[in-house]
Amino acid sequence: LMHLTKKLIEIRSMLLSIDQSDALKLPSIVVIGSQSSGKSSVLEAIVGHEFLPKGNNMVTRRPIELTLIHTPPKDGKVPQEYGEFPGLGLGKVTNFADIQRTLTDLNLAVPSTEAVSNDPIDLRIYSPNVPDLTLIDLPGYVQISSMDQPESLKEKIAALCDKYIREPNIILAVCAADVDLANSPALRASRKVDPLGLRTIGVITKMDLVPPEQGASILSGNRYPLHLGYVGVVAKSHGKKGSNDTALVAARGENDYFGQHRDVFGSQSSLMVGTDTLRRRLMEVLESSMASSLHGITNAVQLELEEATYQFKVQYNDRRITAESYVAETMDLLKHRFKEYTQQFKRPIIRAKLKAMLEDKVMDVLEQLYWLDKRAPELGALAQDPKLKPEDVEPYWRHKLEAASSLLTKSGVGRDSTLLVADGLRSLIDSIATGEPFNYHPRAAERLIEFSHMILRDRIGVTSDQVENCIKPFKYDVEVEPREWEAGRARAVELFEKEVTMCEQKLKEIQKKVGGSRRLSNLIGYVKTLEDKQKERKAITAPENEAEVPAAEETPESYRYPPAQLVDARYAMMYNDRLSILKLRIMALKSKRCRAGPQSEVFCPEAFLNVVADKLAYTSAMFINIELLDQFFYQFPREIDSRLLYDLDRKEIIEFARENPIVRRHLDLQERKDKLEEVMKQLNSLSTLRADPQPAPRRH
Ligand code: GDP
Repeated sequence: LMHLTKKLIEIRSMLLSIDQSDALKLPSIVVIGSQSSGKSSVLEAIVGHEFLPKGNNMVTRRPIELTLIHTPPKDGKVPQEYGEFPGLGLGKVTNFADIQRTLTDLNLAVPSTEAVSNDPIDLRIYSPNVPDLTLIDLPGYVQISSMDQPESLKEKIAALCDKYIREPNIILAVCAADVDLANSPALRASRKVDPLGLRTIGVITKMDLVPPEQGASILSGNRYPLHLGYVGVVAKSHGKKGSNDTALVAARGENDYFGQHRDVFGSQSSLMVGTDTLRRRLMEVLESSMASSLHGITNAVQLELEEATYQFKVQYNDRRITAESYVAETMDLLKHRFKEYTQQFKRPIIRAKLKAMLEDKVMDVLEQLYWLDKRAPELGALAQDPKLKPEDVEPYWRHKLEAASSLLTKSGVGRDSTLLVADGLRSLIDSIATGEPFNYHPRAAERLIEFSHMILRDRIGVTSDQVENCIKPFKYDVEVEPREWEAGRARAVELFEKEVTMCEQKLKEIQKKVGGSRRLSNLIGYVKTLEDKQKERKAITAPENEAEVPAAEETPESYRYPPAQLVDARYAMMYNDRLSILKLRIMALKSKRCRAGPQSEVFCPEAFLNVVADKLAYTSAMFINIELLDQFFYQFPREIDSRLLYDLDRKEIIEFARENPIVRRHLDLQERKDKLEEVMKQLNSLSTLRADPQPAPRRH
């Protein structure tokens, strides 16, 4: 029969790990008793060691689920005693003083404002000297409720205790012999939930403090009958810290006491005395209680298992996953997605992106050097003059072209183009890191970003230097082939036409904003007269008196035009100017002169600069490809392995997988089903092993 309890205790803790619902509970023994009733002494006597927190004001704040596991001697060797806190991962704790310290720490970790915590401490003790038992030491049920504490705290404690002293648990009510049982808080609490005393067992401590006859009378249980009876003990622990034989001393004390009073306790064989008797009694009671729960629990587990199996089939089609497989899949997915995205970094695409950036630069250069130049229209006229030879063009224009070319080639192309591509990579990684499933894994996403930035940081300097170096020749001399020239010219026309459309669009918008084209021309006319007046004034006023020039807007006419519209008008004028110069340049670009070929570069700087931009883009793309992209694409998947995957231990892998709620639900259900299956298997094996459950004998 011994096997049964041991097995059922195992099953009980498995069931506890499945869930805390009442349906799946096997009985345990719940120990209650007021402060100083000797509750700790009794528990320690049963275990044979001092291990419970002691000291002033040291009341239990968390329930302790104490599982005792009897380890029989093997091959004549007595196994070592040790404790284990499965929730803490401390491994075997062989020193009971360490167990005591750990319990004290866990207790103190509950803030005193909360008084108690519902979260039980799981403690297992393996020893050849303990029986197979499960005991629950509760926060001072009775003592605290009598203390001066806010109602809400009392309720909280009472609720916690009520949860534990419910069926099917057995109540171990600890009462001191020198306190009238009528006043015993433990018995009072038990009577509330077990009025007939069917599942309460009394322990009378401090038997040595009352005359033996009085003690014997208490144990006979005539005044407060309990179905499971009373056991009398002398469990005085001397509380000498660290002395390992306190339990031994106590045991000797108890034997001495009951030995001395054999006349009283020995003659009435129905009286139960001594810690050994208590142990045996507890085993019997627990065993018979477990045996009678067996049928009910088997049914309950069967039902739960069927439900879990059904859900697993319906929700997941019986597909099993593991945290490891999820991690591996996620990493594969990551690499796969990355590879897919890298298609966006193929060389022609990069080249086009760089070209677009450089074309913007070209426009800036043209604006700065040509469009804002008052002489710009002249250049158009020169292009239309068929007799003019390029070498006869004024040096002014030749210098201009050289300045433009060097402004473009020396504008930091290496850095800008490298950063452009690096930025693309960065936002690619960002989009991976914020997308599924990395949105569930913030720490992994952070690492992903971290190491990709690191690779980029490493490469950016080298790459931009390299690119800058390779475009160096273009800073001195650019050779242009006729075919390149034609392409550049055509592209320049295209860009200018686009620019024209844009300017026209803007003008239309302004027109609409100020209220029509007539209104806009009036506004422009007004702004022009203002500007003329200002010029006149400046001409007649000495520069030192400039400050005294009255603001032009102060003339009466200004009231007709709100300042915001004057700003619009100035913009419109700028777009008009821009349009006229653009149109002139388009004409030039389309002229016979420009079509002639690269020898016309001085007349058509736009075509020339476009060719230069093209060459810069081509060269930059080539070296960015080698120095940045290839390196990044090589290193990135390897960093995934070494920084995301390989330094995860088993615990972290599980944590990672469980961060994803979809996976977590899947794993939870799967685990629940597995555990229930295992429990069911064990329960089934028990029914073959099990003898007819014998009701615990009555002692009366
Ligand atoms: P708890 O507060 O209910 O856990 O009670 P303790 O186990 O700490 O015991 C309270 C006090 O009673 C301690 O000083 C113990 O030494 C003493 N004590 C416990 N059991 C006995 C006993 O059987 N006989 C005597 N004389 N003292 C006891």
